[in-house]
Amino acid sequence: MSKTLAIIKPDAVEKNVVGEILSMITKAGFKVLALRMVNITRAQAGAFYEVHKERPFYGELVDYMTSGPIVPIALELKDGVAFEEFRKLIGSTDPAEAAEGTVRKLYGESKAINAIHGSDSSENAEIEIGFFFAANELVKNGR
Ligand code: UDP
Ligand code: MG
Repeated sequence: MSKTLAIIKPDAVEKNVVGEILSMITKAGFKVLALRMVNITRAQAGAFYEVHKERPFYGELVDYMTSGPIVPIALELKDGVAFEEFRKLIGSTDPAEAAEGTVRKLYGESKAINAIHGSDSSENAEIEIGFFFAANELVKNGR
């Protein structure tokens, strides 16, 4: 069993494709441990993406992630490494480079406005899940 954090980003929420994306996630075998819809503050968005704070796109990334509600989802995968399998499902950062049938290919607009987040390691997955959910908010297992 391993976990990852997904975030359906503001552009995808605005497009009303939360259900379609959640369906792709569950059909791929991920189990939902926790899910909510929230608006985050600039401080929260900045902290979540702190690793990118020296990058030229950081300010725009904070603008984007605070432009509307987001849907963080804690996920579990029984077989395989959750963050790796999840990143295959969502595709490359730039939707133009993402494989056919991936979430970003289907719903992303650009390298910046790309519909969904996925953790980049198991260690970061745990940290990122903790950013949005208390331990007692995760179901014991996603069945
Ligand atoms: N991003 C951007 N411009 C870039 C690279 C990334 O605006 O050149 C944004 C984009 O929303 C991306 C996020 O910053 O999803 C985090 O970047 P990262 O390189 O970690 O990509 P990811 O892990 O999301 O594929
Ligand atoms: Mg990343």
